[in-house]
Amino acid sequence: MLTLQCPYCGVQAEETELHAGGEAHLKRFGPGASDEDFEAYLFMRENPKGVHFERWRHVNGCGKWFHAARCTMTLEVFGTYSAQTSEPPQSIRAAISAKRPGWQWKDFA
Ligand SMILES: [Zn+2]
Repeated sequence: MLTLQCPYCGVQAEETELHAGGEAHLKRFGPGASDEDFEAYLFMRENPKGVHFERWRHVNGCGKWFHAARCTMTLEVFGTYSAQTSEPPQSIRAAISAKRPGWQWKDFA
């Protein structure tokens, strides 16, 4: 079972106490964006076999949204962090790189 620590209230919660919110760090496009950019924002998602960044909500706790970095194959969690960031904290990227040498995703490494 997947367990994540809510970065706001510190509770170590099982996935049944949380709600998955899809991929984290999506680039949003506003009015005037091209149809291709808007289509990509709406429909195109990563589906990696390995490290992935996701949005989660502590629905049966503090109710806040946060981000988690985890491995989709092993359920290993590299860390959770505030959803108010545009990229993962350096400490989490370093933890991933230490365990997955050569790892890279988007502009994160
Ligand atoms: Zn919480």
